[in-house]
Amino acid sequence: MKLNERGLLIVLSGPSGVGKGTVRKALFDMDDHDLTYSVSMTTRPMRPGEKDGVDYYFVSKEEFKKRIEDNGFLEYEEFFGNYYGTPKDKVEQQLDEGHEVVLEIEVQGALKVRSQVKDAVFIFLVPPSKKALSDRLISRGTENDDTVSIRLAKAEKEFKLAHKYDYIVVNDDVYNAADRILAIIRAEHAKTERSIYKYKSLIEGDI
Ligand code: 5GP
Repeated sequence: MKLNERGLLIVLSGPSGVGKGTVRKALFDMDDHDLTYSVSMTTRPMRPGEKDGVDYYFVSKEEFKKRIEDNGFLEYEEFFGNYYGTPKDKVEQQLDEGHEVVLEIEVQGALKVRSQVKDAVFIFLVPPSKKALSDRLISRGTENDDTVSIRLAKAEKEFKLAHKYDYIVVNDDVYNAADRILAIIRAEHAKTERSIYKYKSLIEGDI
């Protein structure tokens, strides 16, 4: 297999509460693409409505730590007391088979991937305003006042890392944001270094 036939790794990231999960779901609901979602592993308890193997692989801290020792993660982070990580083998296999793989992960983990996978595409999701982010964190109802302030303070620091990403997408409306991400993925495919090998006979052949 040629290197440039490998699938594209797309990393969707951004501060807590910006709506990464909702935008990712909207993206996958759009039917004109062939994207694969990389299900992460976590030690946090399952929330009502979540399914093991669909939303996350829910594992114990011991299992998670064993996987760290076995070098089984592309990246992992401790986030508000729980571990989250991207299982390496599945992502590698999907990419080798030529599939597009989407990671939806927090900012520190995304930057770790950046240092390892040079040709991945990094998208930073931002809220339309700081107020919109705090309203969202409050209305989500999963946080108390203290954790809302901690997450907002963390978000302030994370905004400063946006310049390390390839694209910034505003989540003013979930479907618009998903649509912009799809446009980015299409444009990435058309990039010369990714697509020129397909047109080799045209470009190198006799006219
Ligand atoms: P939640 O507990 O709300 O599902 O997720 C908390 C945060 O962890 C979110 O920002 C989510 O994007 C992030 N996250 C989910 N999976 C991973 C992962 O595999 N690695 C990293 N670094 N972050 C993750």
